[in-house]
Amino acid sequence: MNTEHVVHHRKKRILAVDDDGLVRRSLEILLREAGYDPTVASNGQEALGFLVQRHFDLLITDIRMPGMDGLQVIQAVRQYCHEMKKQPIPEIVLTAYNDEQVRQSAIRLGVREFLLKPFKVDEFLKVLDRNLSR
Ligand SMILES: [Mg+2]
Repeated sequence: MNTEHVVHHRKKRILAVDDDGLVRRSLEILLREAGYDPTVASNGQEALGFLVQRHFDLLITDIRMPGMDGLQVIQAVRQYCHEMKKQPIPEIVLTAYNDEQVRQSAIRLGVREFLLKPFKVDEFLKVLDRNLSR
């Protein structure tokens, strides 16, 4: 088998933000097992810190968190990418609350993916895949 292609293939980097440690751990394991390169952050500030250190292909964020909420994280990440002239990062909202107001705010912001916790793994991976292949 020719492994040269494997060597040059970079794993997709995913930044996942959630204040719940158990969710962070689960996402990290799930994403790694699915072949991605995950970085987890417990809040928006931490996520922005990672963002200046390395490139990410996808952002997954919780909504309800102390400090910045998920929509503020999304806006901050967009602003950063815009200022640094980087490609926008696809965004996925992952929340335990089916809050219509939050959903409407997310739609107004142009967030295309809104997933409820708990999610079905195969559905989740499908959403990741279609957002990474664009
Ligand atoms: Mg939360």
